[in-house]
Amino acid sequence: MNIPVNTPVFNGNEKKYLMDCIDTGWISSAGEYIEKFETKMAQVVGQKYGIAVSNGTAALESAILALNLEKGSEVILPDFTIISCVQAIVKAGLVPVPVDCTWDTWNLDVTKVEEKISDNTKAIMVVHIYGLPVDMEPIWALANKYHLFVIEDAAEAHGLAYRGKQCGGLGDISVFSFFPNKHITTGEGGMVLTSQDEFYARAVKVRNLFFDSERRYIHEEFGSNFRMTNIQAAIGLAQLEQLEKTVVKKREIGSFYQEELSGIDAIQLPVPKTEYADNIYWVFGIVLRDPDLPADVVMNKLGEKGIGTRHFFYPIHRQPALIKEGCCEDKFLEDEQFANANYICEHGFYIPSGLGLTFDEQRYVVQAIRSIFI
Ligand SMILES: *Cc1c(COP(=O)(O)O)cnc(C)c1O
Repeated sequence: MNIPVNTPVFNGNEKKYLMDCIDTGWISSAGEYIEKFETKMAQVVGQKYGIAVSNGTAALESAILALNLEKGSEVILPDFTIISCVQAIVKAGLVPVPVDCTWDTWNLDVTKVEEKISDNTKAIMVVHIYGLPVDMEPIWALANKYHLFVIEDAAEAHGLAYRGKQCGGLGDISVFSFFPNKHITTGEGGMVLTSQDEFYARAVKVRNLFFDSERRYIHEEFGSNFRMTNIQAAIGLAQLEQLEKTVVKKREIGSFYQEELSGIDAIQLPVPKTEYADNIYWVFGIVLRDPDLPADVVMNKLGEKGIGTRHFFYPIHRQPALIKEGCCEDKFLEDEQFANANYICEHGFYIPSGLGLTFDEQRYVVQAIRSIFI
């Protein structure tokens, strides 16, 4: 058996829409699928605008630049997240301030945010991790109290609801990724979503080299080429049409693992539901409870049986790239305040749960894990 950690599935209108791009010649960043994809995504999550870009990392950079924060402003973010989040902050001349995650949901610990807010704090970046959302109500309360923007990274949260509201619609500005392991893929791709006209206007300019509408080739600021192609958007639209089915399938995979693995004391499984959300199982994470057993040991054993796994994220405060940058040393403080992120990065990994996973493959994964621990 060889079971990759993810295999994407294309069983909707992908081919039809792609052929249409080729037949009509609309293959670059102009074309009707881009607008359709942006409009439909915005509609689904309840934002006014969608701005399709080339990937999720570009979406984060565009979102940060769209807010136009003063250089040196602080942005709070989870310590347990992907490098793209902190990179977007640092590249914009802003100061990242990481906060630990909770030990069970692996999401931003909202009870530890307020103590990190200073006069210089201008935004909180929330990141929905692995299939459960951040508890947003306390975040919105803090954002109100201290006049902060909320940047929502919903790159892992297509189709996930927080108290009945779709993720991607919970921030002043929100982003998605459409990498092949996400619930909607365009190969590479991303989107910025917002309901505020000025953020929309800036994000559109950032995406396209800050071209001015008045006189072409005069540029007030630097932007980037973050444009998505019509070809990507065509696939994205077809994938978006399947989102509800995708969510059902991901939850089936997650529930099966929960049932079959719940008896093993040595491992901690994802939280199936909280008071505010039902897990969508973007990935199915496992944390080893024995502090002396690193994730690599078990990952290697599964690898020998042909089962693909991935490490959990690595804590922001320990990222070599960031330490080298030295941009925010005083904010990084002692390692101990990130005890949960430290623990799960060393003892956590995720197992195959892509849409292409068959029932037989999933049973094989379960058996392999059982044979290691029981
Ligand atoms: C995947 C992901 C991204 C980055 O998306 P790319 O399209 O790979 O650049 C950003 N944030 C989170 C939380 C992600 O999971």
